[in-house]
Amino acid sequence: MNKNRVRLAIQKSGRLSYDSQNLLQSCGLKINLQKSSLIAFAENMPIDVMLVRDDDIPGLIMDGVVELGIIGSNVLEETCLTRSFIGAPVEYSILQYLDFGVCRLSLSIPLDMHYIGAVCLTNARIATSYPSLLKRYLDKKNIPFKPFVLNGSVEVAYNSGLADAICDLVSTGATLEANGLKEVETIYDSRACLMSREEKTMPIEKIRIIRKLLNRIQGVIKARESKYIMLHIEKNKLNKITNLLKGAEQPTIVELSGNKNKVALHIVSSETVFWETIEQLKSLGASSILVLPIEKMME
Ligand code: ATP
Ligand code: ZN
Repeated sequence: MNKNRVRLAIQKSGRLSYDSQNLLQSCGLKINLQKSSLIAFAENMPIDVMLVRDDDIPGLIMDGVVELGIIGSNVLEETCLTRSFIGAPVEYSILQYLDFGVCRLSLSIPLDMHYIGAVCLTNARIATSYPSLLKRYLDKKNIPFKPFVLNGSVEVAYNSGLADAICDLVSTGATLEANGLKEVETIYDSRACLMSREEKTMPIEKIRIIRKLLNRIQGVIKARESKYIMLHIEKNKLNKITNLLKGAEQPTIVELSGNKNKVALHIVSSETVFWETIEQLKSLGASSILVLPIEKMME
């Protein structure tokens, strides 16, 4: 094992696997990931990628086995609570929140149950994969309850007669409805994040590699949420348009051949801002609007 290579743990197979691998590839890492093996080596950066169950990732970092991990903040927070309880170390840093794995941990109850607040869950038997997050939430409200842990198939626990309510991850809520449930409380808002060991526990060579990777990840995320926008506009409307689109940099203005009143404006803006302002852009007379994806964006 080369001491100066950084070990990065990602989920082997599950909801975060594709996005994690895709992010690393977008950062230019050339890795030959094979599902059957635990570890893959990047050819062009001193980084080794470990493929593991997501639940193991925070512990691998906190126990000093790997330096980096991509993990849902829900799993990270749950691990912190359980490790604190048994007195295991919980040191780590969150280097970057990522643009995937967005979901929430919610409490759901039967569709026909009358609900006026968490007090309705008093003494309820609640199935969850996140007992510590659930306990923290209901303890704060002084609600006694009977939790039990299911690592999978939590949503069917009510229909199977095992639970009165469930506490599970939700993104759209469609699965809940299909199982005769409605969401009543959000316990925790989650998204994937890049976490690491604390800098003070690592040699400077590894810190340098991590900073380089982080810089690339930030560039990829920024590029993914940005668009290169080109449009034609009358010169006297330029200020209004640039105020609306508020880009990362000053816009580029290009003369149009054969038209002295109009110019072409090129600007980098967020996709959300673009959609929110499209009607105003049009009413200001913007035409020939083109929106292009950006592959990379470095500061
Ligand atoms: P493993 O076998 O690795 O233990 P798992 O079954 O525990 O996998 P997954 O269902 O693959 O976990 O979910 C992994 C993570 O993806 C969750 O902890 C959460 O952070 C995120 N996630 C879960 N559900 C959703 C969802 N509906 N939409 C987006 N992200 C989600
Ligand atoms: Zn898991």
